Amino acid sequence: MSKCLFFNKFKEFISQYKHVVIVSHVNPDGDAVGSSLAFYFFLLKLGIDAKVIIPNDFPSFLAWMPGIENILIFDKNSEKGVEYLNAADLICYLDFNHPSRTGLLHNDLCHCTKTPKILIDHHRDADYSQFVEYLSDVETSSTSELVAELIQYHGFDEYLDEKIATCLLVGIMTDTGSFSHSIYHPETFELCGKMISSKVDYQLIHNKIYNTFSENRLRLLGYCISNRMTILDEYHTAYIYLTKADLENYNYQVGDTEGVVNFPLMIDNIKMAVLITERQGVIRFSFRSKGEFSVHELAKAHFNGGGHTNAAGGTLNCSIEQAVDAFVKVLPQYKTLLNK
Ligand code: 5GP
Ligand code: MN
Repeated sequence: MSKCLFFNKFKEFISQYKHVVIVSHVNPDGDAVGSSLAFYFFLLKLGIDAKVIIPNDFPSFLAWMPGIENILIFDKNSEKGVEYLNAADLICYLDFNHPSRTGLLHNDLCHCTKTPKILIDHHRDADYSQFVEYLSDVETSSTSELVAELIQYHGFDEYLDEKIATCLLVGIMTDTGSFSHSIYHPETFELCGKMISSKVDYQLIHNKIYNTFSENRLRLLGYCISNRMTILDEYHTAYIYLTKADLENYNYQVGDTEGVVNFPLMIDNIKMAVLITERQGVIRFSFRSKGEFSVHELAKAHFNGGGHTNAAGGTLNCSIEQAVDAFVKVLPQYKTLLNK
């Protein structure tokens, strides 16, 4: 379905529902939270009862966002979360397209087989057959940009306010690394310009997102780069790994490793960067690339993951040593592509 068709039908479609639940992905980032909250505020303006559920906590640098206190964090209050899901007559997936991306929420979400679902997302490989309607475009910076387009279609004059503009800018800013990548068309800047000019203090938002590190978080970043970064020149690749003990040493808080993976890409000739982190019982991979090399394909083929061409994630159930080993072992298959 084209974007326009979705926009055009949207008001009539959504007015059929009374209790809408918005769900986003595990380890929610600025776009997951920003797009969900903006969509939530928009639905409230349309007179629709809406709730937002995220599987686990958001990073502390998002704690100031408008409406954040209204989000239900499933792993802290799963009973209420199940209540919301059971009462929902529509479930909206924002910023992910497969229930396997919802962590602890996965099982309960899969039980809602009779509840219609819609998708608003910019990730690849969506299975549209799960959804009654969808707004999905991989060539859009962020889910927040899609929500911004939806709201603009219905009239920024009527619906955009400071809260919505703030949430949308957070999502677009974080998913584009402060407007440095994943921008496919000038409309991204035009939309942001419109939101900034009337409603919000952009520099203040930027400061709240990027300049609120704890001392430990900045020292952890330094440690990652000085002690844990390995460069594999032959593959134009750099990886950083962090053990549970490393995280404990720096009193790790949710969100503290956000952005770390981008730093090795600052080196000339590095085309892929990877952060491998030991989390509760699993190993998380965060992949980034510059140019055409697709980390989505690599994450999908070897690390039970996916995402976008230049940013993807994955997981393995193994030790950190095995995870590093597994990563290094797949590189020869990609040598030609990485040397292009
Ligand atoms: P991050 O490295 O910041 O966790 O994730 C980068 C991008 O890849 C995000 O857009 C995120 O939604 C997506 N992503 C992260 N982990 C996974 C995963 O396990 N599966 C899929 N399909 N996408 C992922
Ligand atoms: Mn996103």
